Amino acid sequence: MGAATLGSVFERYKLNAICNDCGRSKELDVAALKDKYGDDFEVPRLSKMVKCTKCGSPHGCVVHLGNLVGPHLREKEMSGINVRSFALTTGIFGGLSMFFIAWWLILIGAAEGPATLFERLYMGYSFTPLGSVIGAVWGFVDWGIAGAIFAWLYNWLSKKLG
Ligand SMILES: [Zn+2]
Repeated sequence: MGAATLGSVFERYKLNAICNDCGRSKELDVAALKDKYGDDFEVPRLSKMVKCTKCGSPHGCVVHLGNLVGPHLREKEMSGINVRSFALTTGIFGGLSMFFIAWWLILIGAAEGPATLFERLYMGYSFTPLGSVIGAVWGFVDWGIAGAIFAWLYNWLSKKLG
């Protein structure tokens, strides 16, 4: 890989020019430089071109790549998993699973027989058309709560460990 170019840096990093003589640091306007010199212009070449406005040193400067941390980027990092949408996803998944398990057993003729663990756990759930709907509600609530706890715990842990 060659040197970083203005095109590859734009909107991903910021450029800081630090004077070799007086150490003054100045952020460069990447967008303006890109417009002027083009996408393929290599960033290291700037170090000879940028003149310190304070001491006017002929020795140029060092150009550093810095992380561009915009407010929207930071917010995204902080929020982790969106608890509500994650809970909704697992809730829908759980509801559909319960619904289809019931219908699958009805269709293959395995719905009869003693009450299963599922039917005992979820009040009103049975492998019947009505039971499948009740099961879907149970599945949605149960998996939704599980998903919310999962997402919350994940966020909590990544904040602790992060
Ligand atoms: Zn200087």
